[in-house]
Amino acid sequence: MTYAITLALVGACALAGCTMAGGDGAGREAAGAPGKASRAAGIAEAQLDRLQIVQDLRDEFDHGEKGAQHQRYIVLHDTESEADAASIVEYWDQANTGVAAHFIVNRDGSIVQCVPLDRIAHHAGFGDTGHNALYGVTDESRDDRVGTVPIGDAMADYGMNSHSIGIEMAYAAGQDYPAAQLEAVDGLIAYINAYYGFESRIIDHKAWRTGNSDTSSAFAEYLANYQDHGTHD
Ligand SMILES: [Zn+2]
Repeated sequence: MTYAITLALVGACALAGCTMAGGDGAGREAAGAPGKASRAAGIAEAQLDRLQIVQDLRDEFDHGEKGAQHQRYIVLHDTESEADAASIVEYWDQANTGVAAHFIVNRDGSIVQCVPLDRIAHHAGFGDTGHNALYGVTDESRDDRVGTVPIGDAMADYGMNSHSIGIEMAYAAGQDYPAAQLEAVDGLIAYINAYYGFESRIIDHKAWRTGNSDTSSAFAEYLANYQDHGTHD
């Protein structure tokens, strides 16, 4: 399912190799409460309307099923590049490793989506050995692992991709994070939470894999705010 117009989007930390690669939320399907599901869909639609998202879905970035019953985390990444989202998508595509995030958020707040919410993207990759247990995730073979290459015994756990959404922020070392970009991430998180009907836990990539360079120290306060209440401020 590719609307794929030709292009657009990109990635980020994948450029620096950060992406080697990666609920239960309560009340998701709300069995027996059909009205609740449609209300949730309406809320998600309203959130979506506030965002500037261009879809550039590419089949080679889609690695399997990740329905609401599997969604638990939102993983934030930096692209570590001055490239914009469209260029990053092209970079990912040409790299032919299968690596991509679901979304890339440009510095002006515009967003490119390359993988549908209910599909697995290779954005988190391998994490520290022991992190599958720490984060309560497992790789139950829904992920086709196409393009995935192990990176050693110290980073052998691979469950995060199957249970998360990846968001890349266009960011190069030394830059700030523009308000428009942070507000777009706020809106994207609100949309994702509304879509699934529960709040996903927010982490950054380096929490999953120790030593990963993104997100930057400049993002630490925003990350703490996202984890506390879902917005950067
Ligand atoms: Zn990353």
